[in-house]
Amino acid sequence: MSAPTAGQLTIAGATVKLCETCGGAFVPRRSTARYCTSACRQVAYRIRRGAERDCGRWTARRAT
Ligand SMILES: [Zn+2]
Repeated sequence: MSAPTAGQLTIAGATVKLCETCGGAFVPRRSTARYCTSACRQVAYRIRRGAERDCGRWTARRAT
C-alpha cells in the first residue's frame, strides 16, 4: 500500500486527515483532499493568493 503522508491518520481502517486550515480531523472523500470543508479550502486559497500578490490587499478589501 502507499506510504502515509503528513497529517494523515488511519483509525479503525478509516483514513482521517487533518484540515490544513482549521486543523480539524475529517474523512477525505478523495486521497488528495486537504481541507475538511469547501469553506476551509476557500480560506486557504484566499490567504495563499493574498500572500503571493499583496499581503495587505485581501485584509484591506474586507475592512472597507
Ligand atoms: Zn477545516
